[in-house]
Amino acid sequence: MSDCIFCKILDGDIPSAKVYEDDDVYAFLDISQVTEGHTLVIPKNHCENVYDLDDDTAAKLFKAVPTIARGIKAAFKPEGLNMLNNNGSFADQSVFHIHLHLIPRYDESDGFK
Ligand code: 5GP
Ligand code: ZN
Repeated sequence: MSDCIFCKILDGDIPSAKVYEDDDVYAFLDISQVTEGHTLVIPKNHCENVYDLDDDTAAKLFKAVPTIARGIKAAFKPEGLNMLNNNGSFADQSVFHIHLHLIPRYDESDGFK
């Protein structure tokens, strides 16, 4: 998708801080870190959100998550990790290429609610 920010990241047209990559999935640090290590996980195949996510892309996307989560845990040593996914502008989706937020949690004052 030519006007998609995350496709531009995948194409290397917009720089990103890579956390993980395989043939089907890319993970990178969110430009606006809610907490240290806030990571976005996306399929390389452009899907807008959960409503047009096909089974194969969903399986590949979620299959990568435990490895990425373990990497974040090892690198940032958080106490816990929230995973969230916004679908539709009413639900606060602002980039329409599906992505999972992996948000490390440190303590009650780490800035995330
Ligand atoms: P959403 O609100 O759609 O669930 O999340 C979109 C996320 O993408 C936001 O947390 C925002 O900070 C992040 N984001 C938007 N543009 C860029 C960018 O160019 N680079 C990176 N790394 N993150 C971005
Ligand atoms: Zn895209």
